[in-house]
Amino acid sequence: KSGFVAIVGRPNVGKSTLMNQVIGQKIAIMSDKPQTTRNKIHGVYTTDEMQIVFLDTPGIHKSNSKLGDYMVKSAMSALEEVEAVLFLTDVSEELGGGDRFIIEQLKKVKTPVFLVMNKIDKVHPEALLPIIQKYSKLHEFTEVVPVSALQGNNVTTLLEQIARYL
Ligand code: GDP
Ligand code: MG
Repeated sequence: KSGFVAIVGRPNVGKSTLMNQVIGQKIAIMSDKPQTTRNKIHGVYTTDEMQIVFLDTPGIHKSNSKLGDYMVKSAMSALEEVEAVLFLTDVSEELGGGDRFIIEQLKKVKTPVFLVMNKIDKVHPEALLPIIQKYSKLHEFTEVVPVSALQGNNVTTLLEQIARYL
């Protein structure tokens, strides 16, 4: 099994931390060099059974310029070419405009979109369900996976869920 997974989310939600956690478990490639004009490889996770290429997909945020609009469109078309999209959120912060804008964009995508709720180590477990409900009202996500990228909680489960879509 192998495939491509795009990671989206506003700044500081933990995209890089998640990648360090995943790739740290199974060293492969870490690259900061742009691979194409619109995607850069974040890392490659390889086991005997599967290979997942993680792509960083920046540029999905509200813009007021033609260049910005072009970058959003470009980023969105990249999402059509992957097996799954991971939409990372920070559960310790209120659902804000940055998140809402990305969710509106993700509604247009045919690719399975995972809601990856990061930083669960920062909130009480009981607080999680209301947050999930809030997000789920905005969009029907293919999978919902709570994780702590920093501590590694549930990251193995996330990888298993991704494998189902490769
Ligand atoms: P990015 O901008 O989306 O790549 O976010 P980063 O990976 O750089 O993380 C932003 C900040 O959030 C850093 O200070 C991380 O240490 C912190 N962070 C990321 N994931 C977690 C988590 O699961 N729990 C906690 N408590 N902090 C986290
Ligand atoms: Mg980062």
